[in-house]
Amino acid sequence: MTERSAQPRVTSAAWFKRAKECLPGGVNSPVRAFHAVGGEPIVIRSGRGALIEDVDGRTYVDFVCSWGPLILGHAHQAVVEAVRQAAERGTTYGALCELEIELAETVTSLYPGLEKVRFVSSGTEATMSAIRLARGVTGRDVIVKFSGCYHGHADHLLVAAGSGLATFGQPDSAGVPESFASQTRILPLDDDEALETLFHQEGDNIAAVIVEPIPANNGLLLQREAFLRKLRNLTQKHGALLLFDEVISGFRVGAGGAAELFGITPDLATFGKVIGGGLPVGGFGGAGTIMDNLAPEGPVYQAGTLSGNPVAMAAGLETLRTLKREQGWQKLETAGKKLETMLTPILEASKTPVQLVRCASVFWLAFQGGAAPRRADAIEPRAAKNYRRFFHLMLENGVYLAPSSYEVGFLSLAHEEKHLQHLCNSISAALDKM
Ligand SMILES: *Cc1c(COP(=O)(O)O)cnc(C)c1O
Repeated sequence: MTERSAQPRVTSAAWFKRAKECLPGGVNSPVRAFHAVGGEPIVIRSGRGALIEDVDGRTYVDFVCSWGPLILGHAHQAVVEAVRQAAERGTTYGALCELEIELAETVTSLYPGLEKVRFVSSGTEATMSAIRLARGVTGRDVIVKFSGCYHGHADHLLVAAGSGLATFGQPDSAGVPESFASQTRILPLDDDEALETLFHQEGDNIAAVIVEPIPANNGLLLQREAFLRKLRNLTQKHGALLLFDEVISGFRVGAGGAAELFGITPDLATFGKVIGGGLPVGGFGGAGTIMDNLAPEGPVYQAGTLSGNPVAMAAGLETLRTLKREQGWQKLETAGKKLETMLTPILEASKTPVQLVRCASVFWLAFQGGAAPRRADAIEPRAAKNYRRFFHLMLENGVYLAPSSYEVGFLSLAHEEKHLQHLCNSISAALDKM
Protein backbone atom coordinates (compact mmCIF):
# COMPACT_ATOMS: atom_id res chain seq x y z
CA MET A 1 0.00 0.00 0.00
CA THR A 2 1.74 3.05 -1.29
CA GLU A 3 1.55 6.71 -0.39
CA ARG A 4 -0.78 8.63 -2.63
CA SER A 5 -1.29 12.27 -3.48
CA ALA A 6 -4.53 14.03 -2.67
CA GLN A 7 -5.80 13.92 -6.27
CA PRO A 8 -9.53 14.61 -6.60
CA ARG A 9 -11.64 11.50 -7.06
CA VAL A 10 -13.12 12.50 -10.40
CA THR A 11 -15.14 9.40 -11.15
CA SER A 12 -16.58 9.12 -7.64
CA ALA A 13 -17.60 12.79 -7.85
CA ALA A 14 -19.37 12.23 -11.17
CA TRP A 15 -21.30 9.25 -9.82
CA PHE A 16 -22.23 11.12 -6.63
CA LYS A 17 -23.59 13.98 -8.74
CA ARG A 18 -25.85 11.49 -10.54
CA ALA A 19 -26.79 9.88 -7.21
CA LYS A 20 -27.99 13.19 -5.76
CA GLU A 21 -30.40 13.59 -8.67
CA CYS A 22 -32.21 10.34 -7.97
CA LEU A 23 -31.53 9.34 -4.33
CA PRO A 24 -32.31 11.65 -1.38
CA GLY A 25 -28.94 13.00 -0.24
CA GLY A 26 -27.37 10.75 -2.85
CA VAL A 27 -27.58 7.69 -0.56
CA ASN A 28 -29.84 4.95 0.76
CA SER A 29 -28.70 5.25 4.37
CA PRO A 30 -27.75 8.64 5.87
CA VAL A 31 -24.26 8.12 7.39
CA ARG A 32 -22.92 7.02 3.99
CA ALA A 33 -23.18 10.62 2.76
CA PHE A 34 -20.10 11.83 4.74
CA HIS A 35 -22.03 14.74 6.33
CA ALA A 36 -20.33 14.18 9.68
CA VAL A 37 -16.81 14.33 8.22
CA GLY A 38 -17.36 16.69 5.30
CA GLY A 39 -16.44 16.10 1.67
CA GLU A 40 -18.05 13.68 -0.74
CA PRO A 41 -18.38 9.91 -0.38
CA ILE A 42 -16.20 7.51 -2.33
CA VAL A 43 -18.23 5.27 -4.64
CA ILE A 44 -17.31 1.60 -4.31
CA ARG A 45 -16.78 -0.70 -7.27
CA SER A 46 -15.65 -3.89 -5.58
CA GLY A 47 -14.55 -5.56 -2.39
CA ARG A 48 -12.26 -8.51 -1.85
CA GLY A 49 -11.01 -9.78 1.49
CA ALA A 50 -10.02 -6.81 3.64
CA LEU A 51 -9.90 -4.39 0.70
CA ILE A 52 -12.37 -2.24 -1.19
CA GLU A 53 -11.76 -0.42 -4.45
CA ASP A 54 -13.51 2.77 -5.49
CA VAL A 55 -14.57 3.76 -9.01
CA ASP A 56 -11.41 5.89 -9.28
CA GLY A 57 -9.34 2.72 -8.91
CA ARG A 58 -8.05 3.47 -5.42
CA THR A 59 -7.88 0.68 -2.88
CA TYR A 60 -8.50 0.98 0.83
CA VAL A 61 -8.19 -1.37 3.77
CA ASP A 62 -11.81 -1.51 4.90
CA PHE A 63 -12.57 -1.32 8.62
CA VAL A 64 -16.27 -0.61 8.14
CA CYS A 65 -17.06 -4.07 6.75
CA SER A 66 -20.53 -2.89 5.69
CA TRP A 67 -21.08 -1.80 9.34
CA GLY A 68 -20.51 -5.27 10.72
CA PRO A 69 -21.93 -8.06 8.56
CA LEU A 70 -18.71 -8.96 6.72
CA ILE A 71 -17.00 -10.89 9.50
CA LEU A 72 -15.21 -13.05 6.90
CA GLY A 73 -14.30 -10.08 4.70
CA HIS A 74 -15.59 -9.16 1.24
CA ALA A 75 -16.54 -11.81 -1.32
CA HIS A 76 -15.43 -14.74 0.84
CA GLN A 77 -15.12 -17.68 -1.55
CA ALA A 78 -17.19 -20.18 0.42
CA VAL A 79 -20.00 -17.64 0.93
CA VAL A 80 -20.00 -16.62 -2.74
CA GLU A 81 -20.19 -20.29 -3.74
CA ALA A 82 -23.03 -21.03 -1.29
CA VAL A 83 -24.97 -18.02 -2.61
CA ARG A 84 -24.38 -19.06 -6.22
CA GLN A 85 -25.54 -22.62 -5.60
CA ALA A 86 -28.66 -21.42 -3.77
CA ALA A 87 -29.51 -18.85 -6.46
CA GLU A 88 -29.31 -21.50 -9.18
CA ARG A 89 -32.11 -23.37 -7.43
CA GLY A 90 -34.28 -20.24 -7.28
CA THR A 91 -33.86 -17.15 -5.15
CA THR A 92 -37.17 -17.28 -3.27
CA TYR A 93 -40.20 -19.54 -3.04
CA GLY A 94 -42.43 -17.85 -0.45
CA ALA A 95 -42.72 -21.34 1.02
CA LEU A 96 -40.81 -23.32 3.62
CA CYS A 97 -37.34 -24.40 2.46
CA GLU A 98 -34.47 -26.46 3.88
CA LEU A 99 -31.93 -23.68 4.36
CA GLU A 100 -34.08 -21.61 6.77
CA ILE A 101 -34.50 -24.68 8.98
CA GLU A 102 -30.75 -25.30 8.91
CA LEU A 103 -29.90 -21.70 9.80
CA ALA A 104 -32.51 -21.75 12.60
CA GLU A 105 -31.01 -24.99 13.98
CA THR A 106 -27.55 -23.45 13.83
CA VAL A 107 -28.37 -20.19 15.61
CA THR A 108 -30.49 -21.86 18.29
CA SER A 109 -27.60 -24.23 19.00
CA LEU A 110 -25.16 -21.32 19.39
CA TYR A 111 -27.07 -18.65 21.35
CA PRO A 112 -27.92 -19.10 25.07
CA GLY A 113 -31.58 -19.75 25.82
CA LEU A 114 -32.61 -19.47 22.19
CA GLU A 115 -35.14 -22.21 21.41
CA LYS A 116 -37.00 -20.68 18.50
CA VAL A 117 -36.17 -17.91 16.07
CA ARG A 118 -38.06 -16.04 13.36
CA PHE A 119 -36.14 -14.65 10.42
CA VAL A 120 -36.82 -11.26 8.88
CA SER A 121 -34.83 -9.14 6.41
CA SER A 122 -33.19 -6.46 8.58
CA GLY A 123 -32.21 -5.57 12.12
CA THR A 124 -34.92 -2.91 12.18
CA GLU A 125 -37.59 -5.48 11.43
CA ALA A 126 -36.18 -7.76 14.11
CA THR A 127 -36.34 -5.19 16.93
CA MET A 128 -39.70 -3.81 15.76
CA SER A 129 -41.23 -7.29 15.74
CA ALA A 130 -39.61 -8.32 19.04
CA ILE A 131 -41.09 -5.24 20.74
CA ARG A 132 -44.54 -6.09 19.36
CA LEU A 133 -44.15 -9.63 20.63
CA ALA A 134 -43.05 -8.40 24.08
CA ARG A 135 -46.09 -6.14 24.27
CA GLY A 136 -48.38 -8.91 23.06
CA VAL A 137 -47.01 -11.42 25.57
CA THR A 138 -47.07 -9.12 28.60
CA GLY A 139 -50.21 -7.14 27.73
CA ARG A 140 -48.24 -3.99 28.65
CA ASP A 141 -47.32 -0.99 26.48
CA VAL A 142 -44.33 0.77 28.04
CA ILE A 143 -40.87 -0.02 26.74
CA VAL A 144 -37.56 1.18 28.16
CA LYS A 145 -34.51 2.01 26.09
CA PHE A 146 -31.18 3.63 26.85
CA SER A 147 -29.90 6.92 25.55
CA GLY A 148 -27.35 6.27 22.82
CA CYS A 149 -28.52 2.75 22.00
CA TYR A 150 -29.68 2.31 18.41
CA HIS A 151 -32.25 -0.34 17.59
CA GLY A 152 -33.06 0.42 13.98
CA HIS A 153 -35.55 3.01 12.79
CA ALA A 154 -38.94 1.72 13.94
CA ASP A 155 -41.05 4.64 15.28
CA HIS A 156 -41.11 3.85 18.99
CA LEU A 157 -37.37 3.10 19.04
CA LEU A 158 -36.24 6.25 17.26
CA VAL A 159 -35.75 8.22 20.44
CA ALA A 160 -32.29 9.17 21.78
CA ALA A 161 -31.04 6.60 19.33
CA GLY A 162 -27.38 7.27 18.56
CA SER A 163 -25.90 6.13 15.22
CA GLY A 164 -26.83 8.43 12.33
CA LEU A 165 -28.94 10.47 14.74
CA ALA A 166 -26.02 11.09 17.07
CA THR A 167 -24.04 12.07 14.03
CA PHE A 168 -26.56 14.71 13.05
CA GLY A 169 -27.28 15.84 16.60
CA GLN A 170 -30.96 15.10 16.10
CA PRO A 171 -32.54 13.79 19.28
CA ASP A 172 -35.45 12.42 17.33
CA SER A 173 -36.98 12.10 13.87
CA ALA A 174 -39.75 14.07 12.21
CA GLY A 175 -42.70 11.85 11.38
CA VAL A 176 -42.73 9.95 14.67
CA PRO A 177 -46.04 10.66 16.47
CA GLU A 178 -45.58 11.91 20.02
CA SER A 179 -48.09 9.32 21.18
CA PHE A 180 -45.74 6.55 19.96
CA ALA A 181 -42.65 8.02 21.57
CA SER A 182 -44.60 8.63 24.80
CA GLN A 183 -44.74 4.86 25.37
CA THR A 184 -40.93 4.77 25.37
CA ARG A 185 -38.96 5.62 28.51
CA ILE A 186 -35.35 6.72 28.09
CA LEU A 187 -32.70 6.05 30.69
CA PRO A 188 -28.97 6.80 30.73
CA LEU A 189 -26.67 3.78 30.46
CA ASP A 190 -24.55 2.79 33.47
CA ASP A 191 -26.95 4.35 36.00
CA ASP A 192 -28.23 1.83 38.55
CA GLU A 193 -30.15 4.42 40.49
CA ALA A 194 -32.16 5.75 37.53
CA LEU A 195 -33.03 2.17 36.62
CA GLU A 196 -34.19 1.31 40.13
CA THR A 197 -36.26 4.49 40.38
CA LEU A 198 -38.06 3.82 37.10
CA PHE A 199 -38.86 0.23 38.05
CA HIS A 200 -40.03 1.39 41.46
CA GLN A 201 -42.38 3.91 39.81
CA GLU A 202 -43.81 1.91 36.93
CA GLY A 203 -42.13 -1.47 36.80
CA ASP A 204 -45.44 -3.28 36.56
CA ASN A 205 -46.37 -1.41 33.35
CA ILE A 206 -43.15 -2.18 31.54
CA ALA A 207 -43.41 -4.69 28.70
CA ALA A 208 -39.72 -4.83 27.89
CA VAL A 209 -36.35 -3.24 28.42
CA ILE A 210 -34.34 -3.18 25.20
CA VAL A 211 -30.59 -2.71 25.38
CA GLU A 212 -27.49 -3.21 23.28
CA PRO A 213 -25.54 -5.24 25.85
CA ILE A 214 -22.42 -3.97 24.08
CA PRO A 215 -23.59 -0.51 22.94
CA ALA A 216 -21.78 0.12 19.65
CA ASN A 217 -23.82 2.77 17.83
CA ASN A 218 -22.81 5.83 19.81
CA GLY A 219 -19.17 5.11 20.25
CA LEU A 220 -18.44 1.86 22.04
CA LEU A 221 -19.90 2.31 25.52
CA LEU A 222 -18.79 -0.83 27.33
CA GLN A 223 -21.09 -1.58 30.27
CA ARG A 224 -20.32 -2.98 33.71
CA GLU A 225 -21.51 -6.57 34.03
CA ALA A 226 -23.17 -5.62 37.34
CA PHE A 227 -25.36 -3.08 35.52
CA LEU A 228 -26.56 -5.67 33.02
CA ARG A 229 -27.16 -8.12 35.85
CA LYS A 230 -29.26 -5.52 37.66
CA LEU A 231 -31.30 -5.16 34.46
CA ARG A 232 -31.81 -8.92 34.38
CA ASN A 233 -32.92 -9.04 38.02
CA LEU A 234 -35.27 -6.04 37.90
CA THR A 235 -37.03 -7.17 34.70
CA GLN A 236 -37.50 -10.64 36.14
CA LYS A 237 -38.86 -9.29 39.42
CA HIS A 238 -41.43 -7.07 37.66
CA GLY A 239 -42.52 -9.47 34.94
CA ALA A 240 -40.99 -7.37 32.16
CA LEU A 241 -39.03 -8.99 29.35
CA LEU A 242 -35.33 -8.31 28.88
CA LEU A 243 -34.50 -7.83 25.21
CA PHE A 244 -30.85 -7.94 24.16
CA ASP A 245 -30.35 -6.23 20.81
CA GLU A 246 -27.44 -8.27 19.50
CA VAL A 247 -27.67 -7.05 15.91
CA ILE A 248 -23.99 -6.03 16.10
CA SER A 249 -22.70 -8.26 18.91
CA GLY A 250 -24.54 -11.47 17.97
CA PHE A 251 -22.23 -14.04 16.32
CA ARG A 252 -19.58 -11.28 16.33
CA VAL A 253 -18.08 -11.06 19.83
CA GLY A 254 -18.37 -14.84 20.15
CA ALA A 255 -20.63 -17.73 19.13
CA GLY A 256 -23.18 -16.80 21.80
CA GLY A 257 -22.93 -13.02 21.55
CA ALA A 258 -22.94 -10.77 24.60
CA ALA A 259 -25.29 -13.18 26.40
CA GLU A 260 -22.55 -15.78 26.50
CA LEU A 261 -19.82 -13.24 27.23
CA PHE A 262 -21.62 -11.91 30.31
CA GLY A 263 -23.39 -15.14 31.24
CA ILE A 264 -26.75 -13.34 31.21
CA THR A 265 -29.64 -14.85 29.28
CA PRO A 266 -32.24 -12.39 27.96
CA ASP A 267 -35.89 -13.30 27.33
CA LEU A 268 -35.66 -12.14 23.73
CA ALA A 269 -32.69 -11.45 21.50
CA THR A 270 -32.50 -9.74 18.13
CA PHE A 271 -29.98 -10.44 15.40
CA GLY A 272 -28.88 -8.94 12.09
CA LYS A 273 -25.62 -8.07 10.35
CA VAL A 274 -23.36 -11.17 10.83
CA ILE A 275 -26.34 -13.56 10.81
CA GLY A 276 -26.86 -12.78 7.11
CA GLY A 277 -23.21 -12.96 6.07
CA GLY A 278 -23.63 -9.81 3.95
CA LEU A 279 -27.14 -10.48 2.68
CA PRO A 280 -30.28 -8.93 4.21
CA VAL A 281 -31.20 -11.10 7.21
CA GLY A 282 -32.47 -10.26 10.67
CA GLY A 283 -33.92 -12.51 13.32
CA PHE A 284 -35.43 -12.50 16.78
CA GLY A 285 -35.96 -15.32 19.20
CA GLY A 286 -36.18 -16.71 22.69
CA ALA A 287 -37.91 -19.47 24.59
CA GLY A 288 -40.59 -21.45 22.75
CA THR A 289 -43.21 -20.36 25.30
CA ILE A 290 -42.64 -16.73 24.25
CA MET A 291 -42.06 -17.28 20.52
CA ASP A 292 -45.20 -19.41 20.11
CA ASN A 293 -47.22 -16.24 20.71
CA LEU A 294 -46.37 -15.33 17.10
CA ALA A 295 -48.78 -16.04 14.25
CA PRO A 296 -49.74 -18.66 13.14
CA GLU A 297 -49.48 -20.23 16.66
CA GLY A 298 -50.45 -17.14 18.61
CA PRO A 299 -52.11 -13.70 18.39
CA VAL A 300 -49.05 -11.52 17.56
CA TYR A 301 -48.93 -10.94 13.80
CA GLN A 302 -45.65 -10.82 11.92
CA ALA A 303 -44.80 -11.79 8.33
CA GLY A 304 -42.44 -11.20 5.39
CA THR A 305 -42.46 -12.00 1.65
CA LEU A 306 -38.71 -12.61 1.44
CA SER A 307 -38.19 -13.81 5.04
CA GLY A 308 -36.06 -16.95 5.13
CA ASN A 309 -35.29 -16.85 1.40
CA PRO A 310 -32.72 -19.50 0.45
CA VAL A 311 -30.05 -17.15 -0.94
CA ALA A 312 -29.82 -15.02 2.21
CA MET A 313 -30.05 -18.11 4.43
CA ALA A 314 -27.19 -19.75 2.50
CA ALA A 315 -24.93 -16.73 3.08
CA GLY A 316 -25.69 -16.67 6.81
CA LEU A 317 -25.31 -20.41 7.20
CA GLU A 318 -21.99 -20.56 5.35
CA THR A 319 -20.67 -17.60 7.36
CA LEU A 320 -21.50 -19.24 10.70
CA ARG A 321 -20.17 -22.63 9.57
CA THR A 322 -16.91 -21.05 8.45
CA LEU A 323 -16.55 -19.19 11.77
CA LYS A 324 -17.08 -22.44 13.67
CA ARG A 325 -14.83 -24.54 11.42
CA GLU A 326 -11.97 -22.06 11.50
CA GLN A 327 -12.31 -21.09 15.17
CA GLY A 328 -13.01 -17.65 13.83
CA TRP A 329 -14.12 -16.03 17.08
CA GLN A 330 -10.88 -17.03 18.77
CA LYS A 331 -8.83 -15.71 15.84
CA LEU A 332 -10.72 -12.41 15.86
CA GLU A 333 -10.09 -11.92 19.58
CA THR A 334 -6.40 -12.58 18.93
CA ALA A 335 -6.41 -10.03 16.10
CA GLY A 336 -8.17 -7.50 18.33
CA LYS A 337 -5.60 -8.00 21.06
CA LYS A 338 -2.79 -7.61 18.56
CA LEU A 339 -4.27 -4.35 17.32
CA GLU A 340 -4.48 -3.12 20.90
CA THR A 341 -0.83 -4.00 21.56
CA MET A 342 0.34 -2.32 18.36
CA LEU A 343 -1.81 0.77 18.73
CA THR A 344 -1.53 1.60 22.43
CA PRO A 345 2.01 3.10 22.33
CA ILE A 346 1.09 5.14 19.24
CA LEU A 347 -2.00 6.61 20.91
CA GLU A 348 -0.14 7.27 24.14
CA ALA A 349 2.46 9.29 22.23
CA SER A 350 -0.19 11.42 20.48
CA LYS A 351 -0.59 15.12 21.32
CA THR A 352 -4.26 14.89 20.42
CA PRO A 353 -6.02 12.91 23.16
CA VAL A 354 -7.26 9.61 21.71
CA GLN A 355 -7.84 6.14 23.11
CA LEU A 356 -8.79 2.74 21.79
CA VAL A 357 -11.92 1.09 23.17
CA ARG A 358 -12.33 -2.53 22.10
CA CYS A 359 -14.50 -5.59 22.58
CA ALA A 360 -13.35 -8.63 20.58
CA SER A 361 -13.29 -7.51 16.91
CA VAL A 362 -15.24 -4.28 17.50
CA PHE A 363 -13.15 -1.17 18.11
CA TRP A 364 -13.64 2.55 18.57
CA LEU A 365 -11.19 5.42 18.55
CA ALA A 366 -12.39 7.86 21.20
CA PHE A 367 -10.85 11.30 20.75
CA GLN A 368 -10.77 12.12 24.43
CA GLY A 369 -8.61 11.49 27.48
CA GLY A 370 -9.63 10.11 30.87
CA ALA A 371 -11.72 7.04 31.49
CA ALA A 372 -13.49 5.37 28.55
CA PRO A 373 -17.06 6.70 28.43
CA ARG A 374 -19.84 4.35 29.55
CA ARG A 375 -22.77 6.57 28.66
CA ALA A 376 -23.68 8.80 25.73
CA ASP A 377 -23.33 12.10 27.59
CA ALA A 378 -19.77 11.22 28.65
CA ILE A 379 -18.57 11.50 25.05
CA GLU A 380 -16.48 14.61 24.47
CA PRO A 381 -18.43 16.75 21.90
CA ARG A 382 -15.21 18.19 20.45
CA ALA A 383 -14.15 14.68 19.41
CA ALA A 384 -16.22 14.97 16.23
CA LYS A 385 -14.16 17.93 15.02
CA ASN A 386 -10.84 16.16 15.52
CA TYR A 387 -12.24 13.09 13.81
CA ARG A 388 -13.14 15.03 10.62
CA ARG A 389 -9.51 15.83 9.88
CA PHE A 390 -8.33 12.43 11.05
CA PHE A 391 -10.83 10.58 8.83
CA HIS A 392 -9.66 12.33 5.66
CA LEU A 393 -5.98 11.81 6.47
CA MET A 394 -6.73 8.09 6.89
CA LEU A 395 -8.69 7.98 3.65
CA GLU A 396 -5.80 9.59 1.75
CA ASN A 397 -3.56 6.93 3.22
CA GLY A 398 -5.77 4.09 1.97
CA VAL A 399 -7.72 3.29 5.13
CA TYR A 400 -11.51 3.36 5.09
CA LEU A 401 -12.93 4.09 8.55
CA ALA A 402 -16.56 4.91 9.35
CA PRO A 403 -17.38 8.46 8.21
CA SER A 404 -18.50 9.49 11.70
CA SER A 405 -16.74 9.74 15.06
CA TYR A 406 -19.68 7.97 16.71
CA GLU A 407 -19.32 4.79 14.69
CA VAL A 408 -17.16 1.80 15.52
CA GLY A 409 -14.74 -0.18 13.34
CA PHE A 410 -14.74 -3.91 12.66
CA LEU A 411 -12.06 -6.53 12.07
CA SER A 412 -12.78 -9.52 9.85
CA LEU A 413 -10.98 -12.82 9.36
CA ALA A 414 -9.60 -11.31 6.13
CA HIS A 415 -7.64 -8.68 8.07
CA GLU A 416 -4.09 -9.94 8.28
CA GLU A 417 -1.18 -8.59 10.28
CA LYS A 418 -0.09 -6.42 7.32
CA HIS A 419 -3.52 -4.73 7.29
CA LEU A 420 -3.35 -4.01 11.02
CA GLN A 421 0.18 -2.69 10.52
CA HIS A 422 -1.03 -0.39 7.74
CA LEU A 423 -3.82 0.85 10.01
CA CYS A 424 -1.38 1.60 12.83
CA ASN A 425 1.17 3.29 10.57
CA SER A 426 -1.57 5.43 9.06
CA ILE A 427 -2.96 6.38 12.47
CA SER A 428 0.52 7.32 13.62
CA ALA A 429 1.11 9.47 10.51
CA ALA A 430 -2.33 11.10 10.76
CA LEU A 431 -1.93 11.95 14.45
CA ASP A 432 1.49 13.49 13.71
CA LYS A 433 -0.18 15.87 11.25
CA MET A 434 -2.94 16.92 13.64
C1 LIG B 1 -27.65 -2.01 12.67
C2 LIG B 1 -28.47 -2.14 13.91
C3 LIG B 1 -29.86 -2.25 13.88
C4 LIG B 1 -30.66 -2.08 12.61
O1 LIG B 1 -30.36 -3.05 11.67
P1 LIG B 1 -30.68 -2.72 10.11
O2 LIG B 1 -30.37 -4.02 9.43
O3 LIG B 1 -29.79 -1.60 9.73
O4 LIG B 1 -32.12 -2.37 10.04
C5 LIG B 1 -30.53 -2.52 15.05
N1 LIG B 1 -29.87 -2.65 16.21
C6 LIG B 1 -28.52 -2.53 16.30
C7 LIG B 1 -27.84 -2.72 17.61
C8 LIG B 1 -27.79 -2.25 15.14
O5 LIG B 1 -26.46 -2.09 15.24
